[in-house]
Amino acid sequence: MLLNPAVTDEEQDVEEPPSTPEEEPPSRVVLPHTPRPAFWADIPDEKWNDWHWQLAHRLNTLDELSQIINLTPEEITGLTAESKFRVEITPYFASLIDPDDPHCPVRRQVIPLGRELQAFEGMMEDSLAEDRHSPVPGLVHRYPDRVLMLVTTQCASYCRYCTRSRIVGDPHQTFSKVDFEAQLDYLRRTPQVRDVLLSGGDPLTLNPKTLEYILAGLRAIEHIEIIRIGTRVPVFLPQRITDEFCDMIRRYHPVWMNIHVNHPKEITPELSRALDKLLSAGIPLGNQSVLLAGINDSVDIQHELVHKLVRNRVRPYYLYQCDLVKGAGHFRTTVSKGVEIIEGLRGHTSGYAVPTYVVDAPGGGGKIPVMPQYLISQAPGRVVLRNYEGYITTYEEPTDYDPHLIDHLDRQATHRNESGQQGVSGLLAGDAQAIKPEGFDTLHQRGGGQHRLNGNTAKWQPFHQNGNGHNGNGHNSNGHSSNGNGHKPEST
Ligand code: SF4
Repeated sequence: MLLNPAVTDEEQDVEEPPSTPEEEPPSRVVLPHTPRPAFWADIPDEKWNDWHWQLAHRLNTLDELSQIINLTPEEITGLTAESKFRVEITPYFASLIDPDDPHCPVRRQVIPLGRELQAFEGMMEDSLAEDRHSPVPGLVHRYPDRVLMLVTTQCASYCRYCTRSRIVGDPHQTFSKVDFEAQLDYLRRTPQVRDVLLSGGDPLTLNPKTLEYILAGLRAIEHIEIIRIGTRVPVFLPQRITDEFCDMIRRYHPVWMNIHVNHPKEITPELSRALDKLLSAGIPLGNQSVLLAGINDSVDIQHELVHKLVRNRVRPYYLYQCDLVKGAGHFRTTVSKGVEIIEGLRGHTSGYAVPTYVVDAPGGGGKIPVMPQYLISQAPGRVVLRNYEGYITTYEEPTDYDPHLIDHLDRQATHRNESGQQGVSGLLAGDAQAIKPEGFDTLHQRGGGQHRLNGNTAKWQPFHQNGNGHNGNGHNSNGHSSNGNGHKPEST
């Protein structure tokens, strides 16, 4: 019996339930499941399906792994390296590995190769500058209205390309109740934060009481509207998604969840059932993938992946360019490969199935979406666009469009508070005239001092920012609201 009709095409991967003689009614329903390697054939289902057993029996040594996988010399080098990133693989996830195929996409994500230790140009320990942009340990406040809250350094299994390998896997670096309190305290006194993303490590590996303590602490803060959880536990350890766990989460809604699937092979009957439970608990699901060389850097594999995800009611959310972190060098693709994948998805399949491809800016600029160019050209009154097939068309723009028609409604809307982070949107809104690199003005003075021609800064103040072009209602000529009095200095 299939619990979830979304997984009917899994049948070839699934062991059929044994047929039962008519005179002996079945004592239990056997659900579709991934075939178990002979190594674990004697483990009773009760143990195999218990997440505690799965965590306690993770594989991490050369000896253990060589009993279920025919390891290559390079994998042996990777597994025996002293300074390697932590290795742990749940028996369930290991059971998805093809023991004879060194290119198996599941295997490549969790079994280290010798080349993982090679440094590469651009490599950093903390390439997203997360630790630099954190007001308290583990809390990264990069965007105006949302924060990343790291709550643990532990995961169910460890991905070789992990962005946070600087702390992940190290139990000595993990976060304590003192850290959680400092994080919650920061959030209590930062009212612009409306969205908190719990991550780590994997928040679902926390002791259930600790996770609930954090969720309850967040829910007690009135301005926190949504809580998001980033987790790979449903993929590594679907047994963890129990009814009890789902009942606990639903007490803290709205809670959203992003899982992390990179290849269609990871979408098993076990994962489908776990996702069904989460969805039944009212948790909207998204997926974040990392673009990985030799694993999913193919338009066809991405098609299969996103189709399987949406059939399981998981929205493909982000496709990440691999970060410039230690261990990830051999997983990196060119950015043009990501653009090619989006070109192969957009228009060729449902919009719901197309993730946003992003480069997380090295140095800490946040996610930058990258996509093919669809706007080919423009002139006043007309834009030229192309579609996925190469069909080129024009769109006639209205000649009587009035951007101020919305002003009276705009004044009733909740205005965004992005002081210091208006960016390019602020330029369009007329809040600032330019964004300058650090030291721009000093450089252009070329060492000269103040003189009779450069003393009056008013001569560089744009007309509309000088009070002259202002329409008097707190809104500039574009119809956008501007912070303060509209007399904005240029941003630096
Ligand atoms: S699950 Fe996430 S945090 Fe854990 S090792 Fe994988 S990428 Fe890193």
